[in-house]
Amino acid sequence: MPPIEIEIGPQSNIKQLVADFPVAAEVMTAFGLGCSGCGVSRYETVEQGARAHGLQVEPIVAALRDARRTGSVPHIRDEDRQPARRAPGVFSGRSRIAHVIPIMSGKGGVGKSLVTALIAIGLRRRHYRVGILDADITGPSIPKLFGLREPLSIQADPVKRTPQGQPQPLISPAVSRSAIEIVSSNLLSESEDTAMIWRGPIVAGVIRQFYEQVTWSELDFLLVDLPPGTSDAPLTVLQSLSIDGVVLVTMPQALATMVVRKAANLVHQLKKPILGVVENMSYFEAPDTGARYEIYGPSYAQRVAELARAPVLARIPIDPVKAQLADEGRIEELDDPICDILVERLLAGIEAHPKPKETISII
Ligand code: ADP
Repeated sequence: MPPIEIEIGPQSNIKQLVADFPVAAEVMTAFGLGCSGCGVSRYETVEQGARAHGLQVEPIVAALRDARRTGSVPHIRDEDRQPARRAPGVFSGRSRIAHVIPIMSGKGGVGKSLVTALIAIGLRRRHYRVGILDADITGPSIPKLFGLREPLSIQADPVKRTPQGQPQPLISPAVSRSAIEIVSSNLLSESEDTAMIWRGPIVAGVIRQFYEQVTWSELDFLLVDLPPGTSDAPLTVLQSLSIDGVVLVTMPQALATMVVRKAANLVHQLKKPILGVVENMSYFEAPDTGARYEIYGPSYAQRVAELARAPVLARIPIDPVKAQLADEGRIEELDDPICDILVERLLAGIEAHPKPKETISII
Protein backbone atom coordinates (compact mmCIF):
# COMPACT_ATOMS: atom_id res chain seq x y z
CA MET A 1 0.00 0.00 0.00
CA PRO A 2 1.47 3.42 -0.89
CA PRO A 3 2.17 5.70 2.09
CA ILE A 4 -0.66 8.07 2.94
CA GLU A 5 0.19 11.51 1.64
CA ILE A 6 -0.83 14.54 3.60
CA GLU A 7 -3.18 16.94 1.87
CA ILE A 8 -1.45 20.08 0.53
CA GLY A 9 -3.36 23.27 1.23
CA PRO A 10 -2.94 26.71 2.74
CA GLN A 11 -3.24 25.19 6.22
CA SER A 12 -0.49 22.58 5.71
CA ASN A 13 2.36 22.87 8.16
CA ILE A 14 5.59 23.70 6.31
CA LYS A 15 7.78 21.39 8.34
CA GLN A 16 5.40 18.45 7.86
CA LEU A 17 5.30 19.04 4.14
CA VAL A 18 9.08 19.06 3.90
CA ALA A 19 9.21 15.85 5.93
CA ASP A 20 6.57 14.34 3.63
CA PHE A 21 8.35 15.25 0.39
CA PRO A 22 11.69 17.05 0.63
CA VAL A 23 11.30 18.83 -2.72
CA ALA A 24 8.78 21.05 -0.87
CA ALA A 25 11.82 22.78 0.68
CA GLU A 26 13.09 23.61 -2.80
CA VAL A 27 9.67 24.96 -3.79
CA MET A 28 9.63 27.18 -0.72
CA THR A 29 13.13 28.42 -1.45
CA ALA A 30 12.13 29.15 -5.05
CA PHE A 31 9.46 31.47 -3.65
CA GLY A 32 12.04 33.10 -1.42
CA LEU A 33 10.67 31.39 1.66
CA GLY A 34 13.95 30.10 3.01
CA CYS A 35 12.16 29.22 6.20
CA SER A 36 11.57 25.55 5.52
CA GLY A 37 14.68 24.67 7.51
CA CYS A 38 14.31 27.20 10.28
CA GLY A 39 12.88 26.93 13.76
CA VAL A 40 9.96 29.25 12.95
CA SER A 41 8.50 27.12 10.15
CA ARG A 42 7.54 24.23 12.34
CA TYR A 43 4.96 26.56 13.80
CA GLU A 44 3.83 27.91 10.48
CA THR A 45 1.33 26.94 7.83
CA VAL A 46 1.94 27.65 4.14
CA GLU A 47 -0.56 30.49 4.40
CA GLN A 48 1.15 32.04 7.43
CA GLY A 49 4.56 31.73 5.75
CA ALA A 50 3.22 33.33 2.57
CA ARG A 51 1.60 36.20 4.47
CA ALA A 52 4.74 36.85 6.50
CA HIS A 53 6.73 37.13 3.28
CA GLY A 54 4.09 39.25 1.55
CA LEU A 55 3.25 36.56 -1.04
CA GLN A 56 0.01 35.08 -2.40
CA VAL A 57 -0.66 31.63 -1.01
CA GLU A 58 -2.42 30.12 -4.06
CA PRO A 59 0.59 29.93 -6.41
CA ILE A 60 2.66 28.35 -3.62
CA VAL A 61 0.03 25.68 -2.94
CA ALA A 62 -0.28 25.01 -6.69
CA ALA A 63 3.51 24.70 -7.06
CA LEU A 64 3.72 22.37 -4.04
CA ARG A 65 1.01 20.11 -5.51
CA ASP A 66 2.81 20.11 -8.84
CA ALA A 67 6.13 19.32 -7.21
CA ARG A 68 4.73 16.36 -5.35
CA ARG A 69 3.24 14.96 -8.54
CA THR A 70 6.31 15.45 -10.71
CA GLY A 71 9.10 15.30 -8.12
CA SER A 72 10.65 18.58 -9.22
CA VAL A 73 10.14 22.31 -8.78
CA PRO A 74 7.78 23.66 -11.45
CA HIS A 75 8.28 26.94 -13.27
CA ILE A 76 7.40 29.82 -10.98
CA ARG A 77 6.30 33.15 -12.41
CA ASP A 78 8.34 36.16 -11.35
CA GLU A 79 5.25 38.02 -10.18
CA ASP A 80 4.37 35.15 -7.86
CA ARG A 81 7.65 35.45 -6.04
CA GLN A 82 7.66 39.22 -5.74
CA PRO A 83 6.66 40.20 -2.23
CA ALA A 84 3.80 42.66 -2.21
CA ARG A 85 5.75 45.46 -0.61
CA ARG A 86 4.50 48.97 -0.61
CA ALA A 87 5.80 50.85 -3.59
CA PRO A 88 7.80 53.91 -2.56
CA GLY A 89 5.14 56.13 -4.12
CA VAL A 90 2.46 54.98 -1.72
CA PHE A 91 4.72 55.09 1.29
CA SER A 92 3.61 58.02 3.34
CA GLY A 93 6.69 58.33 5.46
CA ARG A 94 5.48 56.71 8.62
CA SER A 95 4.68 53.09 8.92
CA ARG A 96 1.97 51.93 11.20
CA ILE A 97 3.86 49.95 13.79
CA ALA A 98 1.86 48.67 16.73
CA HIS A 99 4.59 48.13 19.32
CA VAL A 100 8.11 49.54 19.56
CA ILE A 101 10.43 47.91 22.07
CA PRO A 102 14.02 49.05 22.53
CA ILE A 103 16.47 46.49 23.89
CA MET A 104 19.01 48.19 26.10
CA SER A 105 22.12 47.22 27.99
CA GLY A 106 24.43 49.07 30.30
CA LYS A 107 27.52 47.83 28.52
CA GLY A 108 28.55 46.02 25.37
CA GLY A 109 29.06 42.31 24.93
CA VAL A 110 26.34 41.14 27.30
CA GLY A 111 24.38 39.53 24.46
CA LYS A 112 21.88 42.29 23.77
CA SER A 113 21.80 41.50 20.06
CA LEU A 114 21.33 37.81 20.70
CA VAL A 115 18.46 38.53 23.09
CA THR A 116 16.90 40.85 20.48
CA ALA A 117 17.09 38.00 17.96
CA LEU A 118 15.59 35.48 20.39
CA ILE A 119 12.65 37.79 21.09
CA ALA A 120 12.14 38.40 17.36
CA ILE A 121 12.12 34.66 16.69
CA GLY A 122 9.69 34.04 19.56
CA LEU A 123 7.34 36.71 18.17
CA ARG A 124 7.53 35.24 14.67
CA ARG A 125 6.65 31.84 16.11
CA ARG A 126 3.44 33.45 17.24
CA HIS A 127 2.94 34.72 13.68
CA TYR A 128 3.48 38.38 14.47
CA ARG A 129 5.10 40.60 11.88
CA VAL A 130 8.42 41.67 13.29
CA GLY A 131 11.16 44.11 12.38
CA ILE A 132 14.53 44.86 13.94
CA LEU A 133 15.99 48.32 13.76
CA ASP A 134 19.65 47.72 14.48
CA ALA A 135 20.85 50.95 16.00
CA ASP A 136 23.92 49.39 17.58
CA ILE A 137 26.64 50.63 15.31
CA THR A 138 29.33 49.17 17.57
CA GLY A 139 29.31 45.91 15.62
CA PRO A 140 27.58 43.93 12.89
CA SER A 141 25.86 41.58 15.34
CA ILE A 142 22.30 41.66 14.01
CA PRO A 143 23.03 41.09 10.29
CA LYS A 144 25.57 38.45 11.30
CA LEU A 145 23.10 36.56 13.50
CA PHE A 146 20.67 36.32 10.59
CA GLY A 147 23.31 35.63 7.93
CA LEU A 148 22.52 38.83 6.03
CA ARG A 149 25.21 40.32 3.81
CA GLU A 150 23.47 41.98 0.86
CA PRO A 151 23.49 45.75 1.13
CA LEU A 152 20.08 47.33 1.64
CA SER A 153 18.46 48.71 -1.46
CA ILE A 154 17.86 52.41 -1.41
CA GLN A 155 15.67 54.41 -3.75
CA ALA A 156 14.91 58.07 -4.06
CA ASP A 157 11.70 59.03 -2.32
CA PRO A 158 9.37 60.21 -5.08
CA VAL A 159 7.63 62.62 -2.72
CA LYS A 160 9.84 63.76 0.10
CA ARG A 161 12.80 66.08 -0.30
CA THR A 162 15.65 66.99 1.98
CA PRO A 163 16.00 70.61 3.13
CA GLN A 164 18.63 70.90 0.39
CA GLY A 165 16.03 69.96 -2.22
CA GLN A 166 17.43 66.48 -2.89
CA PRO A 167 15.09 63.47 -2.93
CA GLN A 168 15.09 61.75 0.44
CA PRO A 169 16.49 58.24 0.47
CA LEU A 170 13.97 55.49 1.07
CA ILE A 171 15.38 52.23 2.35
CA SER A 172 13.92 48.75 1.79
CA PRO A 173 14.54 46.53 4.81
CA ALA A 174 16.41 43.25 4.42
CA VAL A 175 14.16 40.27 5.06
CA SER A 176 15.47 37.29 7.01
CA ARG A 177 14.60 33.69 6.23
CA SER A 178 11.72 33.72 8.68
CA ALA A 179 10.47 37.10 7.36
CA ILE A 180 11.93 39.37 10.02
CA GLU A 181 12.52 42.79 8.47
CA ILE A 182 15.94 44.15 9.35
CA VAL A 183 17.60 47.50 8.89
CA SER A 184 21.16 48.04 10.03
CA SER A 185 23.93 50.51 9.30
CA ASN A 186 26.08 47.44 8.77
CA LEU A 187 24.02 46.67 5.68
CA LEU A 188 24.76 49.94 3.93
CA SER A 189 27.06 49.65 0.98
CA GLU A 190 30.02 51.91 0.48
CA SER A 191 28.32 53.65 -2.40
CA GLU A 192 26.93 57.11 -2.83
CA ASP A 193 23.72 55.89 -1.30
CA THR A 194 25.63 55.48 1.90
CA ALA A 195 26.66 59.10 1.81
CA MET A 196 22.98 59.97 1.42
CA ILE A 197 22.22 58.12 4.59
CA TRP A 198 25.17 59.31 6.63
CA ARG A 199 24.39 62.95 6.15
CA GLY A 200 25.52 63.64 9.65
CA PRO A 201 27.73 61.38 11.70
CA ILE A 202 25.14 61.41 14.43
CA VAL A 203 23.86 58.04 15.42
CA ALA A 204 20.64 59.49 16.73
CA GLY A 205 19.99 60.97 13.29
CA VAL A 206 20.62 57.60 11.69
CA ILE A 207 18.15 55.92 14.03
CA ARG A 208 15.58 58.48 13.05
CA GLN A 209 16.20 57.79 9.38
CA PHE A 210 15.97 54.09 10.01
CA TYR A 211 12.62 54.66 11.57
CA GLU A 212 11.12 57.15 9.16
CA GLN A 213 12.77 56.45 5.83
CA VAL A 214 12.30 52.70 5.70
CA THR A 215 9.44 50.97 3.94
CA TRP A 216 8.64 48.82 6.97
CA SER A 217 5.57 46.63 6.61
CA GLU A 218 2.73 47.22 9.00
CA LEU A 219 4.60 45.56 11.79
CA ASP A 220 3.17 44.24 15.01
CA PHE A 221 6.54 44.70 16.70
CA LEU A 222 9.62 46.75 15.98
CA LEU A 223 12.56 45.80 18.20
CA VAL A 224 15.26 48.44 18.44
CA ASP A 225 18.73 47.09 19.23
CA LEU A 226 20.22 50.12 20.96
CA PRO A 227 23.90 50.93 21.30
CA PRO A 228 25.13 49.96 24.77
CA GLY A 229 25.12 52.53 27.54
CA THR A 230 23.24 55.74 28.07
CA SER A 231 24.63 57.95 25.33
CA ASP A 232 22.71 60.24 22.98
CA ALA A 233 21.40 57.50 20.74
CA PRO A 234 19.46 55.50 23.33
CA LEU A 235 18.22 58.76 24.77
CA THR A 236 16.81 59.87 21.42
CA VAL A 237 14.98 56.61 20.91
CA LEU A 238 13.51 56.69 24.38
CA GLN A 239 12.44 60.30 24.09
CA SER A 240 11.16 60.48 20.61
CA LEU A 241 9.66 57.13 19.66
CA SER A 242 6.37 56.09 21.08
CA ILE A 243 7.76 53.03 22.79
CA ASP A 244 5.87 50.45 24.81
CA GLY A 245 8.76 49.98 27.19
CA VAL A 246 12.32 48.82 27.38
CA VAL A 247 13.90 45.40 27.83
CA LEU A 248 17.11 45.57 29.84
CA VAL A 249 19.81 42.98 29.20
CA THR A 250 22.49 42.34 31.76
CA MET A 251 24.90 39.63 32.86
CA PRO A 252 26.03 38.45 36.26
CA GLN A 253 28.86 40.86 36.95
CA ALA A 254 29.00 43.56 39.56
CA LEU A 255 30.11 46.08 36.96
CA ALA A 256 27.28 45.14 34.59
CA THR A 257 24.86 45.62 37.46
CA MET A 258 26.23 49.06 38.20
CA VAL A 259 25.90 50.24 34.64
CA VAL A 260 22.50 48.70 34.23
CA ARG A 261 21.39 50.73 37.25
CA LYS A 262 22.33 53.85 35.30
CA ALA A 263 20.34 52.67 32.30
CA ALA A 264 17.34 51.87 34.50
CA ASN A 265 17.52 55.31 36.10
CA LEU A 266 17.56 56.95 32.70
CA VAL A 267 14.46 55.06 31.59
CA HIS A 268 12.67 55.93 34.82
CA GLN A 269 13.60 59.59 34.52
CA LEU A 270 12.02 59.61 31.08
CA LYS A 271 8.93 58.04 32.63
CA LYS A 272 9.00 55.05 30.32
CA PRO A 273 8.29 51.55 31.59
CA ILE A 274 10.86 48.79 31.83
CA LEU A 275 9.06 45.68 30.64
CA GLY A 276 11.58 43.23 31.98
CA VAL A 277 15.15 42.28 32.67
CA VAL A 278 17.04 39.49 30.95
CA GLU A 279 20.14 38.09 32.59
CA ASN A 280 22.21 36.55 29.83
CA MET A 281 25.15 34.16 30.28
CA SER A 282 23.71 33.54 33.71
CA TYR A 283 25.24 30.11 34.22
CA PHE A 284 26.49 27.09 32.34
CA GLU A 285 24.72 23.76 32.61
CA ALA A 286 26.96 20.75 32.04
CA PRO A 287 25.27 18.64 29.34
CA ASP A 288 26.48 15.36 30.90
CA THR A 289 25.70 15.91 34.58
CA GLY A 290 23.19 18.77 34.48
CA ALA A 291 25.24 20.57 37.14
CA ARG A 292 25.04 24.36 37.00
CA TYR A 293 28.17 26.48 37.11
CA GLU A 294 27.95 30.21 37.66
CA ILE A 295 30.89 31.08 35.45
CA TYR A 296 30.69 34.86 35.85
CA GLY A 297 29.64 34.67 39.49
CA PRO A 298 26.34 34.60 41.31
CA SER A 299 23.20 35.92 39.65
CA TYR A 300 22.31 39.58 40.06
CA ALA A 301 19.05 39.18 38.16
CA GLN A 302 16.83 39.73 41.18
CA ARG A 303 18.84 42.73 42.32
CA VAL A 304 18.70 44.30 38.86
CA ALA A 305 14.99 43.58 38.63
CA GLU A 306 14.47 45.46 41.90
CA LEU A 307 16.47 48.40 40.60
CA ALA A 308 14.52 48.33 37.37
CA ARG A 309 11.19 47.78 39.13
CA ALA A 310 10.47 45.14 36.53
CA PRO A 311 10.24 41.35 36.40
CA VAL A 312 13.03 39.01 35.31
CA LEU A 313 11.95 37.78 31.88
CA ALA A 314 14.57 35.06 31.77
CA ARG A 315 17.99 33.92 32.89
CA ILE A 316 19.69 32.59 29.79
CA PRO A 317 22.58 30.14 30.21
CA ILE A 318 25.85 30.22 28.33
CA ASP A 319 25.01 27.91 25.47
CA PRO A 320 27.46 26.67 22.82
CA VAL A 321 24.54 25.84 20.47
CA LYS A 322 23.35 29.46 20.48
CA ALA A 323 26.91 30.72 20.11
CA GLN A 324 27.50 28.47 17.11
CA LEU A 325 24.22 29.26 15.36
CA ALA A 326 24.84 32.95 16.03
CA ASP A 327 28.31 32.70 14.61
CA GLU A 328 27.13 30.91 11.48
CA GLY A 329 24.25 33.30 10.79
CA ARG A 330 21.70 30.58 11.43
CA ILE A 331 20.09 31.81 14.63
CA GLU A 332 16.61 31.27 13.15
CA GLU A 333 17.30 27.55 13.17
CA LEU A 334 17.37 27.64 16.95
CA ASP A 335 14.46 25.72 18.38
CA ASP A 336 14.64 26.61 22.04
CA PRO A 337 11.80 27.23 24.49
CA ILE A 338 13.65 30.33 25.69
CA CYS A 339 12.22 32.24 22.68
CA ASP A 340 8.68 31.40 23.80
CA ILE A 341 9.36 32.11 27.47
CA LEU A 342 10.84 35.53 26.69
CA VAL A 343 7.91 36.48 24.49
CA GLU A 344 5.22 35.17 26.81
CA ARG A 345 6.56 37.28 29.67
CA LEU A 346 7.24 40.25 27.46
CA LEU A 347 3.66 40.23 26.18
CA ALA A 348 2.44 40.07 29.77
CA GLY A 349 4.61 43.12 30.51
CA ILE A 350 3.17 45.00 27.54
CA GLU A 351 -0.32 44.20 28.71
CA ALA A 352 0.50 45.46 32.19
CA HIS A 353 1.78 48.78 30.77
CA PRO A 354 -0.60 49.78 27.97
CA LYS A 355 0.98 52.65 26.13
CA PRO A 356 -0.96 55.86 25.88
CA LYS A 357 -2.87 56.13 22.62
CA GLU A 358 -0.86 58.36 20.37
CA THR A 359 0.41 58.06 16.89
CA ILE A 360 4.04 57.06 16.66
CA SER A 361 6.13 60.05 15.92
CA ILE A 362 9.70 61.05 16.07
CA ILE A 363 10.82 64.58 16.68
P1 ADP B 1 25.94 42.75 22.54
O1 ADP B 1 24.88 42.97 21.52
O2 ADP B 1 25.47 42.97 23.94
O3 ADP B 1 27.22 43.48 22.25
P2 ADP B 1 26.10 40.09 21.36
O4 ADP B 1 24.68 39.68 21.31
O5 ADP B 1 26.75 40.54 20.11
O6 ADP B 1 26.32 41.19 22.50
O7 ADP B 1 26.91 38.88 22.03
C1 ADP B 1 28.32 38.90 22.18
C2 ADP B 1 28.87 37.53 21.88
O8 ADP B 1 28.49 36.60 22.88
C3 ADP B 1 28.38 36.94 20.55
O9 ADP B 1 29.43 36.26 19.94
C4 ADP B 1 27.27 36.01 20.98
O10 ADP B 1 27.07 34.96 20.06
C5 ADP B 1 27.79 35.48 22.32
N1 ADP B 1 26.69 35.13 23.23
C6 ADP B 1 25.73 35.96 23.68
N2 ADP B 1 24.91 35.32 24.52
C7 ADP B 1 25.34 34.03 24.61
C8 ADP B 1 24.90 32.86 25.32
N3 ADP B 1 23.85 32.89 26.13
N4 ADP B 1 25.60 31.72 25.16
C9 ADP B 1 26.69 31.70 24.35
N5 ADP B 1 27.16 32.75 23.65
C10 ADP B 1 26.50 33.92 23.77
